[in-house]
Amino acid sequence: MSHPELAEQFTKDVDRTTWHDETLWFVRQKRDRMAYSLPEFQELRDLASQIKNHTLSRLDDYLIQFEEAARRNGVHVHWAADAAEHNQIVLDILRQNSVERVVKSKSMLTEECHLNPFLIQNGLQVVDTDLGERIVQLRDEAPSHIVLPAIHLKKEDVGETFHQHLGTPKGEKDPQRLTEAARQHLREKFVDAQAAMTGVNFAIAETGSFVVCTNEGNADLGVDLARVHIACMGIEKIIPKLEHLGVFTRLLARSATGQPTTTYTSHFTRPAEGKEMHIVIVDNGRTQQLGRPDFRNSLKCIRCGACMNTCPVYRRSGGHSYGSTVPGPIGAILSPNIDLKKYSSLPFASTLCGSCSDVCPVKIDIHTQLYKWRQIISEEGALPPSKKWSMKALSAVLASPKVFTNGGWFARKLLRFLPHGLTHAPGLNPWAKDRELPEAPKQSFREWYQQQNNAE
Ligand code: SF4
Repeated sequence: MSHPELAEQFTKDVDRTTWHDETLWFVRQKRDRMAYSLPEFQELRDLASQIKNHTLSRLDDYLIQFEEAARRNGVHVHWAADAAEHNQIVLDILRQNSVERVVKSKSMLTEECHLNPFLIQNGLQVVDTDLGERIVQLRDEAPSHIVLPAIHLKKEDVGETFHQHLGTPKGEKDPQRLTEAARQHLREKFVDAQAAMTGVNFAIAETGSFVVCTNEGNADLGVDLARVHIACMGIEKIIPKLEHLGVFTRLLARSATGQPTTTYTSHFTRPAEGKEMHIVIVDNGRTQQLGRPDFRNSLKCIRCGACMNTCPVYRRSGGHSYGSTVPGPIGAILSPNIDLKKYSSLPFASTLCGSCSDVCPVKIDIHTQLYKWRQIISEEGALPPSKKWSMKALSAVLASPKVFTNGGWFARKLLRFLPHGLTHAPGLNPWAKDRELPEAPKQSFREWYQQQNNAE
């Protein structure tokens, strides 16, 4: 289904839509307060953007440098061209270590590769340990936000899910008691797990180490208790040197949730004695995006989610309406790279107001890229027929002053006589589904303007 169709389902629940909108706007305001409290915030954005630009221009060199340093540290490094290869590598590592139970901290890459269903099909138990991720996993849903995976759910929904799966009392909605139930449930899983998986927020070429940022400490607990640690990273997660890390960690949490820093910023360099550490470096379409000059800088993204929290369309349509692993404005740029036809409605899920670009900590020109995707989608003939033909008709009208003037005159007359059922028919005029057309003016703007000038 397209974004408008899925968004329509979400917006049917008006209270939830309003609540979702207001909750994310609250997060955006927290981000603003935190950003304005740091005098060098804009300078940090400039620096982050420049470091990422430089890294993307020498990505192959830095990846090799990272691989060599990581191997020297005793880490096993694997390369995966796509999602299928990534999943197979992870499965092979788990099988070689006779692993049956895995705990996993938040990783959008493993979501993108659909790793959980793959491992479960192959007989493994996989438990997401980030609280929001665990909630959506129990509900058999995808995350609706890259930082706040269960932001589409209210505490009553979580209470019902925990009642069904964790045996909490029916109707329990106290966040503290629900969190305690999740803590008890997850603690057992941590203790039982034989392997821990994490994502990677930043990988440092110079040292071969990598950094995982969480607020719950679940990545550390999983890694400390399990014998095998597998970290999965997209090729764009590289930064050249340790001295660059502070620029990004200072921006990430401030932009994501309005915190000065994430509660845990964990550095991993080498496996502990008697343990194994693996890192899987994944392409899965990223080099193709790197090869598109207009879109390559979308690979600068540090997945803070700020563009989602500010986007008026995302806030009112919910993350699931995008139908892609990464929703919101950045998802609408990344997804068409993977499948242009399937995701052709996403670049249109934007007002092009530019708020996403304004808040992006690495200064990605998000709204410009959305506009470029629209042009490509149109040129490739991937527009829905109704949009294609209405745009053709509109361009014919706008290209001829005569047709425009006469068309306007005709429409003003006609609108006064046409029945409401016809002017507001959902199939003919989706815009009027929840809106009333204003009364047609008696004269055009041009006529009114001339009148005013003559009167002076
Ligand atoms: S595009 Fe920018 S604002 Fe959006 S998630 Fe990525 S880094 Fe954050």
